[in-house]
Amino acid sequence: MCKTHVLSVASARAPFEKTTIERRELRPHDVLIDIKFSGICHSDIHSAHGEWDGGIFPMVPGHEIAGVVEAVGTEVTKYAVGDRVGVGCFVDSCGECEYCRSGEEQYCTRGVVSTYNSLDYDGNPTYGGYSQKIVVTEGFVVRIPDALQLDVASPLLCAGITTYSPLKHWNAGPGKRVAIVGMGGLGHLAVQFAHAMGAEVTVLSQSMNKKSEAMELGADHYYATSDPATFTELANQFDLILNTVSANLDVNAYLSLLRVDGTLVNVGAPAEPDQYHVFSLIMKRRSIAGSLVGGIRETQEMLDFAAEHGVAPKIEVIRADQVDEAYERILRSDVRYRFVIDIATL
Ligand code: NAP
Ligand code: ZN
Repeated sequence: MCKTHVLSVASARAPFEKTTIERRELRPHDVLIDIKFSGICHSDIHSAHGEWDGGIFPMVPGHEIAGVVEAVGTEVTKYAVGDRVGVGCFVDSCGECEYCRSGEEQYCTRGVVSTYNSLDYDGNPTYGGYSQKIVVTEGFVVRIPDALQLDVASPLLCAGITTYSPLKHWNAGPGKRVAIVGMGGLGHLAVQFAHAMGAEVTVLSQSMNKKSEAMELGADHYYATSDPATFTELANQFDLILNTVSANLDVNAYLSLLRVDGTLVNVGAPAEPDQYHVFSLIMKRRSIAGSLVGGIRETQEMLDFAAEHGVAPKIEVIRADQVDEAYERILRSDVRYRFVIDIATL
């Protein structure tokens, strides 16, 4: 066992405190990672606040992990000590079901083991990346390309793959009009990926405040959703709308922006159910869909794509004692565009 310092919350909405936990002894296929940076995802807030079906406490959030391999188990072949690696939203899956075999472990029929707020297959709670060390089986570790700094790379492990995967699945590319709703951690990466894939990209943000940054990141158009004229002007325009918003939206209003056969894909995950009218779908054969992060193989592909195309999160590096404040700022949409914890300060 290896003792490691962590930031944990004792119960829903409790403040963060520095404590220690034990990481498991290395099994033959395990990798011990010395975590350097850990991004803060809005899912960490939903989870630490107990918004999604309660939660397992004490909780150590964090599923945007970037670090360096410190030790490897006896049968590890993929990684060696010193390698720059990342871990995203899950750390195990059954490996046998049709989804695991096709590289979409996130949809494992046995139930994927999440990086934190989850029970592993031995029944032990998992603890995430707000931590100095983590032990993960090598199949759930990805390689961070040399072109990406570790702090910049960390948000790609969740926000990056969560936007890259649906954009690819729903064929964002040349000739496609794609709207990104919400320009936060996920949204500002979605803009970059959709642009790099060749789509015509529109940002739908609450205000005009982020316009110049959106255009720098590759957006072709930018509209404020607080202006009702936006919804008349953009009616029936988009092939694909990627909703990254953490709160409930007026779903009918966004559906009205889709062309015939267009799809509204939700990755934003508010706790309360959405409402929509079926006529918003029927009259133009539109679809509503959702998407959960992305598989390990696709996560590696996404990192390599980001390195090749210069897709990079805009980050604000913070100390371990600033996480409570960072959560409040995220809830006020006061982040440009991802907080990343410098684990050396823990
Ligand atoms: P974030 O950084 O807080 O960004 C969310 C953005 O949504 C905000 O920056 C804001 O953008 C917009 N927004 C916030 N409140 C709003 C409201 N009331 N009405 C309209 N727009 C609002 O959060 P994130 O880390 O990107 O995560 C976004 C959501 O995705 C969360 O619910 C998270 O749990 C979920 N998520 C899902 C997956 C998955 O696998 N499906 C993975 C990761 C995260 P503007 O200022 O531009 O309006
Ligand atoms: Zn996340």
